[in-house]
Amino acid sequence: MSEPLPYELYALRYATATRNPADVFIGADPHDAAVPMDYFVWAARNELHTVVIDTGFGVEAAQRRGRQLLREPGDALRLLGIDCAHVKHVIITHLHYDHAGNLQLFPRARFHLQESEMAFATGRHMAHAFFAHAYDLEAVLSMVRLVYGAQVQFHHGDAEIVPGITVHHVGGHTHGLQVVRVWTRLGWVVLASDAAHYLANMTTGRPFPIVADVMQMAAGWERLHELASRPQYIIPGHDPLVMQRYREPEPSLRGVAVRLDAEPQGGLDGTVQR
Ligand SMILES: [Zn+2]
Repeated sequence: MSEPLPYELYALRYATATRNPADVFIGADPHDAAVPMDYFVWAARNELHTVVIDTGFGVEAAQRRGRQLLREPGDALRLLGIDCAHVKHVIITHLHYDHAGNLQLFPRARFHLQESEMAFATGRHMAHAFFAHAYDLEAVLSMVRLVYGAQVQFHHGDAEIVPGITVHHVGGHTHGLQVVRVWTRLGWVVLASDAAHYLANMTTGRPFPIVADVMQMAAGWERLHELASRPQYIIPGHDPLVMQRYREPEPSLRGVAVRLDAEPQGGLDGTVQR
């Protein structure tokens, strides 16, 4: 089989918030300083394909949850020259509100989702606020509508979306969380999404407190290492380090977008400590 064309890979920062350390690390000292949390959508493209990974939230969710929306995710994608109305493939890593809003922006897309994520988000565990809190019912209902509209492609485990982009079920944070592996000029770069909110969740072995299965989350960190060509190529889902350690594709996109198919500055090393 011939090698796929490498993709350019981008992180687009669309929102930010400040969180208490105990909100982001199990076992954190509550006296520690507050930590910033960034919110991203991602995009991969080459001459043949453009794939959007996660769709973020909008104004309404930002207000309701007290997050600072920096720009609508659709506007951020447009700054890269990506017109959501023409995107054919959208991967949803999981259905939490900050990853699966704005679905109406993609009328021509096929949405790629783990079957187990839809079962989780619409099943018995949602009767418990602990599991339901990070889901936005309207966003979940939008996805259900897309199922009835035959726009959702369910996956069970590992799957290839287009040549050079694969999804891999890891679970943990939610029952059906999937991570995304992208072929780039450097090799395989892996978007961890919420398998590792912060690199430190993974490298210091302190899980993020919103979790369906802690053991599965820890196993997910190992899976990320199997998938990435180097530990440095694991991209955490909410870590401000992403904007610090990668460069904007052009000066006008400073603080908005960075290219992830590049060596991180200062060695963004995701090695797991056991
Ligand atoms: Zn998230």
